[in-house]
Amino acid sequence: MQMIHRERFLQLMTAQAAFGATAAGGVSRPALSPDDHAVRGWFRQQIEREGLEYRIDAVGNQTARLACGFADAKTLLIGSHFDSVPNGGRFDGALGMLAAFEAALSIRDAGIQLPFDLEVINFTDEEGTHLGLCGSTTLTGGMTTERLAIPRDGRAALEAGFAQLGLDLNRVLEAQRDPATLAGYIEVHIEQGTRLEKANLDIGVVTSIVGIRSFWLTLLGEAAHAGTMPMDQRKDAFFGVLEYAQRARELIMRDFHPGTLNFGRVELAPGAFNIVPARATIGVEFRHGDPALFDAMESALRALAQEVATGRGLGIEIQKVDNVLPALMHEQMIEHVEAAADTLGLRYTRLMSFAGHDAQSMARVCPAVMYFVPSVDGISHNPREFTSDDDCVNAANVMLQAVLQFAQNYQ
Ligand SMILES: [Zn+2]
Repeated sequence: MQMIHRERFLQLMTAQAAFGATAAGGVSRPALSPDDHAVRGWFRQQIEREGLEYRIDAVGNQTARLACGFADAKTLLIGSHFDSVPNGGRFDGALGMLAAFEAALSIRDAGIQLPFDLEVINFTDEEGTHLGLCGSTTLTGGMTTERLAIPRDGRAALEAGFAQLGLDLNRVLEAQRDPATLAGYIEVHIEQGTRLEKANLDIGVVTSIVGIRSFWLTLLGEAAHAGTMPMDQRKDAFFGVLEYAQRARELIMRDFHPGTLNFGRVELAPGAFNIVPARATIGVEFRHGDPALFDAMESALRALAQEVATGRGLGIEIQKVDNVLPALMHEQMIEHVEAAADTLGLRYTRLMSFAGHDAQSMARVCPAVMYFVPSVDGISHNPREFTSDDDCVNAANVMLQAVLQFAQNYQ
């Protein structure tokens, strides 16, 4: 059986971790920062040294291309991202990049003729230093000039970052690719959770990447003197959101497993020790990978808010914030990854991804799949993030076998 070159791959993993290395053993490579530019430069060198074709598109996505030589061949993209959160770990993104690169090198070394072009892609700004999933959103046609105008760190920073790559912020949308030219997308990533580790499994094949929706819920009561207004006569907005939060949590755990719910912000007004709160606002965020259950979750959360407000004689306001739809992975692509794991004798399961990834952009335009390898203790976005050498090697071997499975079934 064709296997990846273990030593070469592990050396690449070690080498990439030097860029933006932190004292705690992680990396800090926010997109388009000097350390991100450095790791990009290193990746380009590796591509050129290995004799693959190097390209960079209008949004800064770098690719290593292994052309099949057939006219009008489509492209199978495999990859992830080299950028990190500030003070992040050395596996998030980088493992997916180098597993894909090593798989491509192994195919090249073995002289395997693929029926499509293979491109290893480093997506720009997956982590959202400027614009989350920037490279993959743009490549798949989801970017807009409106979004490009309001990056998190300001437009000047994004402009300067692109300028350093020789790119013009005004031409970023030209990176969109015709979906008809894309054969598919495969990505491997660390799990960033504990499901695989707890179940003692090697591979988690992602069935969907969760949708994320959020809204501000405000309950409206009446401001009153904190001493003179009798306790049982208060229209206290805070106790409304308190009851809501507790009941919503129970509801989601009971009826919407494995969906998640979070209240990350609470604001009370007028906001004084001696005034009964007239307004209580909480930031509600929920996630699910099943489109029907995702919608049902929202209905249930809204109905509960109404019920609590009515029961306490409070007014209610709901203001939508974000809405990212669940992205379903492609069934046949899932089966290719499972067949790859079978070939290698690895234990696997199907699961949802509760974090966003570039694969969710890709799933909009072509058959896409991603899979996970274990993260020790589920630690991620942290310098202590760790995945063993054997699990990293599994990631790369499954990538190689999944590409070969895809090729065998390609028409
Ligand atoms: Zn990542």
